[in-house]
Amino acid sequence: MSNRKEVRAVAKDRLAEVLQTWEAVIGLEIHTELTTLATKMFCGCPVAFGGEPNTRVCPVCLGMPGALPVPNEAAIEATVLAGLATNCRIAAWSQFHRKNYFYPDMPKDYQISQYDLPFCEDGHLDVDIGAVYGPPQPDQESDYATRIGITRIHLEEDTGKMVHVGGSEGRIAGATHSLVDFNRAGTGLIELVTEPDIRTPEEARRFAQKLRLIWLCLGISDCNMEEGSMRVDANVSVRRRGEGALGVKAEVKNMNSFKSLHDALAHEIVRQAELLESNGTVVQETRHWDAGAKRTSSLRSKEEAHDYRYFPEPDMVPFEFAPEWVESVRARLPELPDARKTRLASDLGLPVHDATVLTSDLDMADFFEEAARIAGPERARQVSNIMLNELSMHLNAAGIGVAASRISPAMIAELVGLVDEGAISSKQAKDVFAEMAETGEAPGAIVELRGMKQVSDTAVIEEVVERVIAANPGQVAQYQGGKAGLLGYFVGQVMREMGGQANPAVVNEVLKGKLDG
Ligand code: ADP
Ligand code: ZN
Ligand code: MG
Repeated sequence: MSNRKEVRAVAKDRLAEVLQTWEAVIGLEIHTELTTLATKMFCGCPVAFGGEPNTRVCPVCLGMPGALPVPNEAAIEATVLAGLATNCRIAAWSQFHRKNYFYPDMPKDYQISQYDLPFCEDGHLDVDIGAVYGPPQPDQESDYATRIGITRIHLEEDTGKMVHVGGSEGRIAGATHSLVDFNRAGTGLIELVTEPDIRTPEEARRFAQKLRLIWLCLGISDCNMEEGSMRVDANVSVRRRGEGALGVKAEVKNMNSFKSLHDALAHEIVRQAELLESNGTVVQETRHWDAGAKRTSSLRSKEEAHDYRYFPEPDMVPFEFAPEWVESVRARLPELPDARKTRLASDLGLPVHDATVLTSDLDMADFFEEAARIAGPERARQVSNIMLNELSMHLNAAGIGVAASRISPAMIAELVGLVDEGAISSKQAKDVFAEMAETGEAPGAIVELRGMKQVSDTAVIEEVVERVIAANPGQVAQYQGGKAGLLGYFVGQVMREMGGQANPAVVNEVLKGKLDG
């Protein structure tokens, strides 16, 4: 365990070292399946994950001769929505092309895709790097924002899936035969390509995370990286710092988490730099990330690259988007994460850091807004504090998201209310939270049941204070002789007498009155 940690630390240090003399250049290609659509891209088959193989198919998505594709309007709208949300220009004129290649899970032997006339071009996304999201990475200078250019977003259809079986199940090595499942074939798929503007693995991860958040916000996909509905391929090269020309790139595939994306890039950057330092050359190729072995290995070299012989899809007419139509899609844009962050910070007075963290998870942001609505805007800051501390710690420990938790926005609002009204101290609130997380009971009921109510009644507190003062004449003399720090001692004594249930503010006030007066 500690050994693995050490290996990781060494790898991180090595990256930081390499990045002193070398600059990494990274461009991402991100495929996202339009999983929220009812039907596939060019036929009426339903979109879903898994299920009995080859049960969601028809002549169109099976590529039967003579079957004709009919474009899915909702998929085109989703693509345009994605383009507008990432500051792209929406093409006035565009069309589908056929991309010809043979692969067993591509029954037509071509994929309907887009070539030189994609729906969206020339966008960008600003990405925050830095401590706002957590501990700094070794490849991260400090807090900064960087703008990543988006070359294009186009729409295409997904392929089916091969399953290699026999021998060792699910792996190519040792498999005796392969099966093909066309359930996924023909699902709408958007591909986003970035400019080579990304400079570190951390920037790549932040970009992909932000994009996922935006796609989720638009509701165009479930963006499940493990199920493959969002897939990130990374092109990476290195050049000596200060050099202008780009180096030869390798394309890294097979990362199915943000952590894998980061780690694969870190390893590939180190590999290329070390290769060049020992007078080797980087070859343009596709490399496969092996998360277990923590290394990339060559999959195929670009020499074998296909000539896709793109040509305009003859079964569909080109598209001309009327400006009014584009505007009608724009009108459907929801509030995006950046705007939401700004609103929470300015309207509810949250620190930008807190607003950033809350809005980096859609469920957390929704939860927060609901809790703040119930608690009242003047208590938004306290709601946010409990969410970013107790609630986040609880969710991390349980390994679940807020949506799966038994804690509701109303419960958090109630807890904040109890503290604000002085019914319980903020220290007691932590105990109530722990019990609430464990039992799912409402905070008011827990306080009642445990007899936790904080005592703010001055008369009751005065009685105890008088007793404590009478029992500690020595300390009273010292305090009155100038040892002001002893006040804490008296507070502690009163609290102990009252089983921790006294309102500390009232205790302080009463004590001062008696001792100083
Ligand atoms: P290809 O023709 O090999 O598909 P493209 O020019 O279409 O290459 O770029 C594909 C992706 O690779 C884009 O995201 C782009 O930003 C990135 N890219 C291009 N050249 C480089 C390079 N030298 N180093 C790193 N990334 C690059
Ligand atoms: Zn079909
Ligand atoms: Mg290309």
